[in-house]
Amino acid sequence: MDLRGKNILVVGLARTGVAVVRFLVRQGARVTVTDMKGEAELSSWLEKLAGLPVVLELGKHDEESFRTADLIVVSPGVPMDIKPLLLARDAGRAIVSEVELASRFITAPIAAITGTNGKTTTTTLTGEIFKAAGFATFVGGNIGNPLIEAVEPASPEAETNTYERVVVELSSFQLEGIERFRPRVAVLLNITEDHLDRYATFQEYIDAKVRIFMNQTGEDFAVLNVDDPLVAACADRLAARVVPTSQRRELPEGLFHRDGVITFRWEGREERFPTAGYLLQGVHNIENIMAALATALLMGCDAATCQTAITAFRGLPHRMELVRTVNGVPWYEDSKATNVGSVEKALASFENITLIAGGKDKGGSYAPLAELVRSRVRHMVLIGEAKERIARELGDLTDTHMASSLEEAVQAAASLTERGGVVLFSPACSSFDMFRDYEERAERYKALVRALEEKRC
Ligand code: ADP
Repeated sequence: MDLRGKNILVVGLARTGVAVVRFLVRQGARVTVTDMKGEAELSSWLEKLAGLPVVLELGKHDEESFRTADLIVVSPGVPMDIKPLLLARDAGRAIVSEVELASRFITAPIAAITGTNGKTTTTTLTGEIFKAAGFATFVGGNIGNPLIEAVEPASPEAETNTYERVVVELSSFQLEGIERFRPRVAVLLNITEDHLDRYATFQEYIDAKVRIFMNQTGEDFAVLNVDDPLVAACADRLAARVVPTSQRRELPEGLFHRDGVITFRWEGREERFPTAGYLLQGVHNIENIMAALATALLMGCDAATCQTAITAFRGLPHRMELVRTVNGVPWYEDSKATNVGSVEKALASFENITLIAGGKDKGGSYAPLAELVRSRVRHMVLIGEAKERIARELGDLTDTHMASSLEEAVQAAASLTERGGVVLFSPACSSFDMFRDYEERAERYKALVRALEEKRC
């Protein structure tokens, strides 16, 4: 793809837009950047473009620019169906997403990871294993660093980069914008209801996820968690070689977990990984570890390095993180659990639970939690906009309380929970009703838990 002298429009600034503009300028393109936000709102990003030859069209989208660009590059936050993009498509303009553009310039083999939950954990862990194995590794995508940053030209003319392995986390929204993107290993961790506030139907969301496999061939690998029925259902339709993972049954080929050991079986090779020393806890993390192992082993890492890197991995904050133990009760913070699928796994990992949940409703059903709430949740404290709905769907199954703030919920949980119980803040909702984001929500909860007083004997 020769971009020299081409007239390229970048839609959406922020971090990805800045990285794309820098890359395009280095490639010798004539770059225009457009964003509906104005100069004042974008000032911190604009500073990063200082000195670069870029035309700015801010606070608006100029349809003429869309109609005349040789190529339009769309940042991940921008929907592909905004009117100027539809006009540009009708006018025959080439439109690519940032991930698609980046992948055309990346020469290292790519591992791509998607799923409703576990993407960031699995992506990070896979990157750690590659690094431990000595590969120059780029880890990015939905996790924070735009994929285009993986393209580091050795010279202004060169199109190659210096990375030996690229691990990319992809959201369903990013997958909607791919065309030829072809990972050597593609991972689908699970599919449960999420983002129904942004997709018309659950099927549309599933269709977006499985696009990760669409350009793979028989030389590539598709790592599928076959314990998840929607993931398992994809297997027959794929051109790639399917590598199944399971915690439920022993597999003739693939990876499975049984009696504290993960076994990797592939083409006559067998490797065993005892899980006893792993710091990552919970049933869901075994799924993530198996996916990371499959990817690393299929892309050139040895078993001993994998085991060392997994054993050293502490997990990421805000994913079932132990805050502290107060009066014999461990308090967990799982603010990143913004959908029902992630809460399901959190509940399956404990018993005698006081669950604090609620926040902004995302349109899915809470019913998949019913059995776990009945059998494992002793008390439930609900907060946020979604509390009435959760109470309607699950409230009869356990001792349920309403709280008007997170502060009140923590106090209620503290007085309800007895020694031997565990308090879990796993909201099943996004945070935007009460907090800036899930991180702010997490910090508020942690501060409240840290302030709880130990009872004196
Ligand atoms: P993502 O990047 O897909 O949001 P994270 O690794 O950030 O995934 O985890 C998000 C939430 O999902 C956390 O609450 C975490 O404990 C939970 N989780 C992690 N892995 C899984 C999994 N494989 N299945 C279900 N839930 C998971």
